[in-house]
Parts: sequence; structure tokens; C-alpha cells
Amino acid sequence: MSRFFSEKYKNLVPYTPGEQPKDTQYIKLNTNESPFPPSERAMICALEESRNLQLYPDPECRALTEKTAELCGVSYNEVLMTNGSDEILNFAFMAFCDENHPAAFPDISYGFYKVFAELNNVPYTEIPLKDDFSIDLNDYKNINKTIFIANPNAPTGITLSLEQIEEILKSNPNNVVVIDEAYVDFGAESCLPLIKKYDNLLVCQTFSKSRSMAGARLGFGVGNKNLIADLNTVKYSTNPYNINRMTMAAGLGVLSDELYTKTNCEIIAENRENTSKKLKEMGFTLTDSKSNFIFAKHPKINGEYIYQKLKQKGILVRHFSKDRINEYVRITVGTKEQMTALIFALNKILEEQNDQSC
Ligand code: PMP
Repeated sequence: MSRFFSEKYKNLVPYTPGEQPKDTQYIKLNTNESPFPPSERAMICALEESRNLQLYPDPECRALTEKTAELCGVSYNEVLMTNGSDEILNFAFMAFCDENHPAAFPDISYGFYKVFAELNNVPYTEIPLKDDFSIDLNDYKNINKTIFIANPNAPTGITLSLEQIEEILKSNPNNVVVIDEAYVDFGAESCLPLIKKYDNLLVCQTFSKSRSMAGARLGFGVGNKNLIADLNTVKYSTNPYNINRMTMAAGLGVLSDELYTKTNCEIIAENRENTSKKLKEMGFTLTDSKSNFIFAKHPKINGEYIYQKLKQKGILVRHFSKDRINEYVRITVGTKEQMTALIFALNKILEEQNDQSC
């Protein structure tokens, strides 16, 4: 730390992204990326647009916002495109949280919520999930806080129904409820249809997962036009050109290729179910994930060990050294071939473990 670092950030513990190894060729199942390349159309559009990189991008991101709004069944002024959904989440902390509107989110959820709260000096409460990692709705009723919930949750993949989300929205009419739908396309129900009904709902989505564009950094928020206007105030006060030209073009490209996205999501959901079945047969306990990852633990070997052993065998998964989830690993669902390699490696690890205990 330099002697110039602001007092206000001295205790900030930044978010730790998953490993992005450069040396070895790993089967990369650790950061919930798509195993499939971006849509051809996204690539062609981005390449075309690279000719115009001497010019700033459209700060309104108009064409892409219009197309996204159409897809979500909302109006243009109910959408804000951002640099990944991390940016819309940060904007929401900046816009809707303060001393009088502290933040609340589950104790086991996306690690960035806590970092954004700390970064923005927002008081926050981490509400414990139940033992089975589900949300106790009563914990979120009339709490007078700005609520952040990932649905499906990460790293568990567990979902809330629309009815449950409505209960939270109804009982907190004077607070914004942010539903982070980063993984919604893999089998959960989106609460976008609730936007017209609740002026306190902000839905966040991303192009990083189902649309194979994590490297382009594109996300968006959908909500009542007044919420979006507030978020725009924050955006224009931080980075008006938050979406670069090539990303904007790629975004338009992939949105014109919805069949590609849909097909990939179906494959991932199928691979998730097949892999889950095999893992259960091997003795693993799994949460009911509706996402593009599996959250699993084994009664005989702990999560850290599985993570290390898989890494030695060339497969990267994610382990969190955190109370309650220490025993688990989070495995991104990849292609059928990648999942076969995973099961093969895990069987080997279990065999080695058995040999040791004989
Ligand atoms: N929300 C959740 C729950 C996530 O897991 C992630 C991915 N790390 C994000 C939001 C942010 O994704 P991105 O910034 O790539 O859109």
C-alpha cells in the first residue's frame, strides 16, 4: 500500500476473481464461463466495428438498448446497458444504498455484493441462508433495506419462485429490490414480467454466461424508468462511454442469433443434469442447481482436496475457503467431453482415496 492510498479504502478487501491460468491448458470449469464460442454473428459484427475504433462509442448505447428492451418486453427507458453486470450492481449500490438504506443480502451469495457495499461505504447485513442454503422469506419481509438477491443464487444455483420474489417486493415498497439474474437462462424463471408491476424492482442480467461473451464485458439492468434514470445519473458521473464499440456491435450480433443462445443453454442444462446424476451415484451431495454450475460435496473428501487434486489432473474448479461451504466445490458445466473428463478424474481421486484408507 502506498502512503497516498485514501484512508477510506485502507481496509477494503477486493473481490478475488477465479483463476485465469496462462501457463497450462486446463479444462476450465472454475469461472462459470460458457464452453462455447461466441455466436459467429457477434464475432463478425465486432470485427466490422473495429474499423471505427478511432471514434467514441454511442454513450446512449441506443441500438443495443432498443434491441435488449424489445427482447425483455420493456421500453427503451427501462433498460441500462453496462460494462458487465458487475457494473450495474455497483451502480445500484451507489444509487440506492446509504446510511438510511443499508444493503442486505444472503451470507452465501455472490462475493462482490460485500465488496461493493464496502467500496461505497454502505452499511450492510449478511442474512444467513437456512441450513439447506435456501432463503427464509421471513428474513426479507419489511426489513427496510436495499435487497440484493442472486436468482439462481451463486454458488448454490438454488432458485426462488416469482411468487416468493413478489412477496419480498410487496413487503419492501420503499426499498429497491435487486434481483441478479446472471444465471437465469439455464433453467430459472426470470422476474422481468414483474417490472411493470413493481417500481422498486431492478433486474440485472449479463451477456457473460448464456451468450458466451464474458470477455466482452456486457450486462444490463431493467427496471422502472425512474430507477433507470437514477442509474444513468451515476453512469454519466463515472463513465459515460461504458460500453465500447466492439462490445456494442457483438451484443447486437448475438441478440440477432437467439437460437444459438437457446440451443447452448439447453445443452448446458442437459449436461448439468447428466453430470449431477453421475456425481450422486459417486456419493456426492448436490444442491438443486438451475444454473450453469454444480455445487457438490463428498462425505469422504473435502472441497479443498478435490480442488487441488483436480488441478493436478488438469481440471480447474472453484473452491471457497468460507464457513459453511468449505466442503464444497463449484463446478462449471462444460461440454459433454469436459464433463466426461471431470467424472473420470473424480473417479480416480476417489479410487486413490480408497487405496490410501485400505
Ligand atoms: N452476478 C453473479 C451472481 C455472478 O456470479 C457474476 C459473475 N461473476 C456476475 C453477477 C457478474 O458477471 P459479469 O460482470 O460478467 O456480467
